[in-house]
Amino acid sequence: MLDEIVFSRPYRSADELANLEAVLRSDHSHGDGAFTASATARLTDLTSAPNALLTTSCTHALDMASILLDLGPGDEVVLPSFTFPSAATAVVLRGATPVFVDIDESTGNIDPAQVAEAITSRTRAVTVMHYGGVPVDLDSILKITTDAGIPLVEDNAHGLGGRDGFRMLGTAGVLATQSFHDTKNVHCGEGGALLINDEALLERAEIVREKGTNRARFLRGAVDKYTWQDVGSSYLLSELNAAVLDSQLASFETIQTARHRVWDAYADGLAEWADDLDLRLMSDDPTLQHTAHLFYVVMPDHDGQTELISHLRGLGIRAAFHYVPLDSSPAGQRFGRTLRPLERSAAFSSRLVRLPLWAGMTDAQVERVVAGVRSFR
Ligand SMILES: *Cc1c(COP(=O)(O)O)cnc(C)c1O
Repeated sequence: MLDEIVFSRPYRSADELANLEAVLRSDHSHGDGAFTASATARLTDLTSAPNALLTTSCTHALDMASILLDLGPGDEVVLPSFTFPSAATAVVLRGATPVFVDIDESTGNIDPAQVAEAITSRTRAVTVMHYGGVPVDLDSILKITTDAGIPLVEDNAHGLGGRDGFRMLGTAGVLATQSFHDTKNVHCGEGGALLINDEALLERAEIVREKGTNRARFLRGAVDKYTWQDVGSSYLLSELNAAVLDSQLASFETIQTARHRVWDAYADGLAEWADDLDLRLMSDDPTLQHTAHLFYVVMPDHDGQTELISHLRGLGIRAAFHYVPLDSSPAGQRFGRTLRPLERSAAFSSRLVRLPLWAGMTDAQVERVVAGVRSFR
């Protein structure tokens, strides 16, 4: 019996245990210590964002964005239906309404034409997500948000280190969010970051992240005591998590090289099979630099999705579907709205199969996945 090939396995970076031990021995394991400073510097280097704050999760970074944009009842935020729920809950928690729009099926990314249509006088922001780290059509989206005079937020959970030719993902929006959940390319168990590209939001972001206090300014010696200034919560990452994150970010190139090797092997090894069966593989536009966060096959129908996943499971290979469109989910129907049925999101979600992809996969495991998929007819 062959070992099971899991769908995702967190990368183990060289210094993570030593870093953790150093934190535990230092008696400083709450947030904003030396590893937070180091990981934050690595993150701003990597993304070229002017400012970043580490957070407890991407979800919390999205919550912070909603607070910083002063969302409230009556306000609307336009976002894709095919995404993770956190971008929508961040809107709903402020009493505002998520307006779901459809995707471009060739990428799974938000369709700019639908964004333009969904903008009303109540729209306060557009949130996009770079699916699989493939860049959203940012030029078109930025034209729409600029014309409407509203901010863009990037949920960049998949897009760390990606670029659309010249622009780093996470730097187009006024705010962008990262996830360091252990299913992401770089992880620290649970964690995230808020990238702050608009300097004017930085001081308030520090306050919101520190329970609504100006503790960050106090620690820098800018004020002689810290006081309650605003709403906020405890959104800062523990130094224990930051210690792991710092070591992971130091290994970023190694992680990405390993992931791209798997991605390329799937693209090469499955091209002929996909052609024969008239299926579509996740495509690689050479003008964009994706992040090899995932690799997928689009089956002709929902039965094909179910059958391929179970075929692979029979061979000891874990494959997976992905997001259930938010507009069709119970909370989406309760809290959100759409202009029309979002058929492309529904079709994409019901047909897509993601293959195992993680940095530690061996050549033999990658070959087994390729052979396993090719044996499906
Ligand atoms: C993983 C993910 C999130 C949530 O990240 P957490 O750090 O677990 O809160 C949000 N958005 C997208 C697109 C994700 O993939």
